[in-house]
Amino acid sequence: MGKTGRMCPSQGGPRGGPHGDRGGGQRGGRGYGSWDPDGGRLTLSRGSAIPLLGLGTWDLRGRAGYEAIRDALEVGYRHIDTATGYGNEAEVGRAVHDSGLPREEVFVTTKLAPEDAGRPAAALSASLSRLGMDYVDLWLVHWPPRGRAAPETWEQLLAARDDRRARDVGVSNYSTAQVDELIRTSGVAPAVNQVRWGPTLYDPRFAAECRDRGLVLEGYSPLRSSRLDDPVLMEVARRYGVSTAQVIIRWHIEHRVVVIPKSGSRERLAENFGVWDWSLGEREMSQVDGLSTALA
Ligand code: NAP
Repeated sequence: MGKTGRMCPSQGGPRGGPHGDRGGGQRGGRGYGSWDPDGGRLTLSRGSAIPLLGLGTWDLRGRAGYEAIRDALEVGYRHIDTATGYGNEAEVGRAVHDSGLPREEVFVTTKLAPEDAGRPAAALSASLSRLGMDYVDLWLVHWPPRGRAAPETWEQLLAARDDRRARDVGVSNYSTAQVDELIRTSGVAPAVNQVRWGPTLYDPRFAAECRDRGLVLEGYSPLRSSRLDDPVLMEVARRYGVSTAQVIIRWHIEHRVVVIPKSGSRERLAENFGVWDWSLGEREMSQVDGLSTALA
């Protein structure tokens, strides 16, 4: 167990997010969206700010799921990632509501289930009703419907964005070729592509392709895609007096990749949020990058 998160949230508090010796003050930084050094956030294409660290909620359902999301908001998380397919939009909505936080302080993402690709507007209405919200901050196509880019579905997401029912829209699990098809047909790039990511999956070419198209790269399954007892991660963690999970989360942040670890334990929620008062050096970043199988 490493450092724990502060009760005063860096994402909501006055001191702000990541800082330290590696370009925390640089706008643009390594470059996915513009970099707000004081808030731990990236600016999406339409100007809204997405917290770099969010809570993944896959498998957080029912009473225990609700309690975990409440805990996360108390610990300081201000970004929650859900999906129609997770069956927990109601729990997310209730936890945000009961937290007493103003709606605009919590960034909420949900995702269009592939089976709803033919009826996105109705699916969004149902999501908003379960969430008890009149908008989501980000709405993603969860998977390419039937393996296709589905530009006709994308047009419907853009319409929801124009109606302000989704402040921003994007995709998940899309290839660069599929993103390019959406850009070609609609003239509008998704704000975000959420893909499985982590040190072993690190692919600088894919990251550059996102950046070049103005997409923010968001990584899912950051911990499950890694071995937490990897010797390189353990060595780096020991050097900083943190856990390997924290090294992985901070590594995403240093790369300006949005990261959404899930935990149902208050202790691990706090641990995963304890990444704002230290940073990784160039040498350690290279060591963790070196775990990538794409670079092997
Ligand atoms: P993850 O966040 O990489 O890992 C979660 C697992 O790690 C849980 O078993 C959790 O157990 C454990 N864990 C959490 N913190 C830990 C720590 N500090 N030390 C050791 N173990 C720890 O996996 P994920 O849930 O697959 O991915 C994160 C989120 O990404 C999801 O919840 C979901 O929101 C999103 N996602 C999106 C897609 C997509 O297709 N777009 C697909 C998969 C996931 P405890 O709960 O017991 O702590």
